[in-house]
Amino acid sequence: MGANYCMSCGAPLAPRDVDGTMRHACTAEGCSFVHWGNYSIGVGALVLREGKVLLVRRAQEPGKGYWTNPGGYIEQLEMIHDTIVREVKEETGVEASVRGIVALRDLPRNIHNVYVAFAMDYIGGEPVPDGVEVDAAGFYSMEELETMNVAGFTRWLIDVALKSGGDGLIEDREPVVKLDGHGLFRL
Ligand SMILES: [Zn+2]
Repeated sequence: MGANYCMSCGAPLAPRDVDGTMRHACTAEGCSFVHWGNYSIGVGALVLREGKVLLVRRAQEPGKGYWTNPGGYIEQLEMIHDTIVREVKEETGVEASVRGIVALRDLPRNIHNVYVAFAMDYIGGEPVPDGVEVDAAGFYSMEELETMNVAGFTRWLIDVALKSGGDGLIEDREPVVKLDGHGLFRL
């Protein structure tokens, strides 16, 4: 899972003690690159409409054939709350806005994954699958879910979203200090 070359300048990496932990760090003079590890960040949407939840059926591996909530992976230069709005629109055609963050999953493994689940407010549009990532989409009641092949993690998220009393972690749109490029959220 290591890296051999610097992602910043291309020079070879070599083991170096960084604050007591051996890391792969760049050997070029003046380059501060350290390979901290392999990480990915997923985002998911829980869009509720009249007691029904927006689900999609995965057309690709992993999880092909399973029903999940819409979602995806963050992009290098896109705010996560913009990513989740875009992913919902792309996968289902539904417009929704972020209300807050209701859950977080941590999954340390070869590529350490953190998954952020958003509660979202339905704005408009009828679900239509994109036909690529997902081959079915719709709003489903809790009764309907019982007979569907819903992924275990999605079941957990739906339970959290339904029982969430508050609005979770809210984006601070008017922070007391302006910080360019920061996505700021508060409890
Ligand atoms: Zn370098």
